[in-house]
Amino acid sequence: MPQPNILLEFNRLQKEVAELNTPSAQVRKIVDSVSEIIGTDVCTLYLKDQHQDMVLMASHGLVETGPVSIPSGRGLVGLVAQDRHALNIAKASEHPDFFYVEGTAEERFQSFCGVPLVHYGKVIGVLVVQRADAVALSPESEALLITLCSQLAHIVADMPVTLQGAHINTYMRGVSGSSGVGIGQGVLCDHGDLFSVADEPCTDVDAAVADWHALLANVQAEIKSEEATLSALLSAQESSIFHTYASLLSDQALIQKVETEIRNGNWLPGALRKSVQYFADLFLEMEDPYLRARHEDIHHLGNKLYGTFQGNNSLAEKIANLQQIVLIGDQVSVSDIATVPADRLVGIICFEGSSMSHTAVLANALAVPAVMGITPLKNLRSRERFIVDGNSGQIVRYPNDRLCAEFQRVIDEEKLLLDKLWELRDEPAVSPDGNAIRLLTNSGLLADLTPGLKHGAQGIGLYRTEIPFMVRQSFPSEQEQVDVYNQVFRIYKGKPVYMRTLDVGGDKQLPYFPITDEDNPALGWRGIRFTLDNIQLMMTQVRAMLTSAALNDGDLHILLPMISAAEELNSFNELLTEALRQLQHEGHAVKRPRVGVMIEVPAAISQLPFWSNRIDFVSIGSNDLTQYLLALDRNNSRVASRYDHLHPAVIHELNRVVQIARERDLPLSLCGEMAADPLAVMLLLGMGITTLSMSATKLLRIKYLIRKLPQRRAEIILKQCLQLDNSQDIRALLRSNLIKLNLGELIK
Ligand code: PEP
Ligand code: MG
Repeated sequence: MPQPNILLEFNRLQKEVAELNTPSAQVRKIVDSVSEIIGTDVCTLYLKDQHQDMVLMASHGLVETGPVSIPSGRGLVGLVAQDRHALNIAKASEHPDFFYVEGTAEERFQSFCGVPLVHYGKVIGVLVVQRADAVALSPESEALLITLCSQLAHIVADMPVTLQGAHINTYMRGVSGSSGVGIGQGVLCDHGDLFSVADEPCTDVDAAVADWHALLANVQAEIKSEEATLSALLSAQESSIFHTYASLLSDQALIQKVETEIRNGNWLPGALRKSVQYFADLFLEMEDPYLRARHEDIHHLGNKLYGTFQGNNSLAEKIANLQQIVLIGDQVSVSDIATVPADRLVGIICFEGSSMSHTAVLANALAVPAVMGITPLKNLRSRERFIVDGNSGQIVRYPNDRLCAEFQRVIDEEKLLLDKLWELRDEPAVSPDGNAIRLLTNSGLLADLTPGLKHGAQGIGLYRTEIPFMVRQSFPSEQEQVDVYNQVFRIYKGKPVYMRTLDVGGDKQLPYFPITDEDNPALGWRGIRFTLDNIQLMMTQVRAMLTSAALNDGDLHILLPMISAAEELNSFNELLTEALRQLQHEGHAVKRPRVGVMIEVPAAISQLPFWSNRIDFVSIGSNDLTQYLLALDRNNSRVASRYDHLHPAVIHELNRVVQIARERDLPLSLCGEMAADPLAVMLLLGMGITTLSMSATKLLRIKYLIRKLPQRRAEIILKQCLQLDNSQDIRALLRSNLIKLNLGELIK
């Protein structure tokens, strides 16, 4: 038999599997296709369940009389899983580990070739091919099977392991959009797919036109009420999407086009589909990236109109009797979120998006746990229960009562701890031996400004200005930016505010200025590189910051992201001088703010001594610094388990930065996720860092830790960790110290 082209075969198989709706149909397709590609009588797929037993998922060739499960470590299948390499033999029954699986009529087949299915380093199952004759697979076919299995593992990894019909506790990985845990009933946010509607003749044209106008009025009213629900939580900019919808709905071109289609004899949904498609295509062809991106809004609005036309499956009706709601969808929209009363929304699951997408930003502002980028969920049953674990970026489908009870304990403990910590909000963050730490908050949405203050933040250590840029439909004007920054300075009157200049690029994309054509976006046009090349944006932003600080007597610190070279610093300082000159000339009482750099590109570490006479402070961005030191993409789920800010290289480099800053008298803070991780904070305190900035909800935990951990002890712990060569040992040492301090509840 000629050797098949493995890549072509795999692509075909992957496509066919994706088109099937149920996991059982998908596994059946896999075994049928593999036995055909390899040319064997039997192909059987086993997946590991939670007890490590091998569950027979599907077989081509074996008799399937009922559920089959091979106990962990038993038989040839168990051997393959244990040894983690292929076993290819002519006569299976003569192998000492042979284990006859009752009821499969396996005895008819003599040869056996089993290959482990490995997903991110873990054996998740075994694929077995068998033949009636006692001839082992040829070396070429064995190699083919191994290659196929290395790809197949990723397809079957998220499948529920079916035994007696129970799909229990199926974990699915995504990325965290917003932290916290929620348990609730899933509700799919689909508004009907307008684009699958077929044309039908219109029987009563006048009635259809009247229905169209009534539909417009209904949806306009819906949008108004959604906007009203969210207006208390969002700024005018953040809720600008509602205005986009409203203006599209009152656009005469769209209204007339639908009417004309109806008068040409199409029924209302058909007329709507044609018209919406027409306008969406027009936008898609536009050169201007902002206008091009609007085609998605038109699609979304089209589906919303169709959903309301159908009436019976509106989201409001679906959630009517549910108390704990998990919203699920490709992209859960702002209006979906607005439809659910805040006290009943316990989680969000998105099939698209990243931690920085619009939905994630909103979920964070509303403190709703969210997981993004989950493989689309098929065959959702009504009121199906889900666990959303925003802390680890996973969801659990079909959770059993025991698992729900375990997660509920996490939720309850979290709440108890927060109640206890609340008492600390006005207490100082001082160690038992008198070391005072300044605790600041990270912010970016107007909605998360006040929580910071409420939790006792002494200022804003990182204001991510890209967030107000990202939740809009166009670049904000200078005045619009001044309006946003005014609110920041008003709320943080008399307190320091570290405003970072626009840090877009990489995984942070502006919907109206996408930078998508880069092979290595994390190494590309982002942060200061982007803004210095788009100097007009930088000038506008710096002018807005200075004006707003002057108007509010704000304690402005400007923070520059992704700095890696002295030239960037020089260019910024020139721009700042020019902005000050312009504004003074225009009559504003602006003054030169303090300027500092983020330490997040490793090159900045050795260069810091050279820059120290040109900057006023430094802030360590440990998220990016970890990414670039370890050459591990912080958004790539394939390497997520390796991305670790407790890696010894990260700790040694941080210690070096702190020492350089101390020698040069440069004030230093840390504003990455490390500042909110109690284990990492023990090390940071040991290094002598005295300013930490983190999200509002983490402030009190870290204060609690600081008040219990003597500085002297933190220094000893750091010294011990600096001797270790791997993060597991570092983590274990830190954990045991935390537990000895009676602070184990901080890391549950
Ligand atoms: C960081 O890189 O640590 C940081 C705080 O910046 P961001 O997460 O916004 O990239
Ligand atoms: Mg960063």
